[in-house]
Amino acid sequence: MKSDICMFCRGKLSKGLDNFVVKIKDHIVELAEVPAWICDKCGEAYFDDQIVNQIDKIRSEIREDNFLAHPIAAGSVSLKKNISVSE
Ligand SMILES: [Zn+2]
Repeated sequence: MKSDICMFCRGKLSKGLDNFVVKIKDHIVELAEVPAWICDKCGEAYFDDQIVNQIDKIRSEIREDNFLAHPIAAGSVSLKKNISVSE
């Protein structure tokens, strides 16, 4: 994320956590508490390239059925051990 302005409403983005929903095979998986930039006005969430790359990696691991994350709720997995954010 190079800009800190929302591309939809031009609101200000602040650092926060959001859920990232991905479709894997026939399953909808919600990745909980993914580091994101969230618009103060409209709530749109933006994810750093670094985070998106890690999510892509996790998605392919899930496809290969060797995903080791612990489920925290139905349809949700925690990424806290998989994703770290650089300041
Ligand atoms: Zn916005």
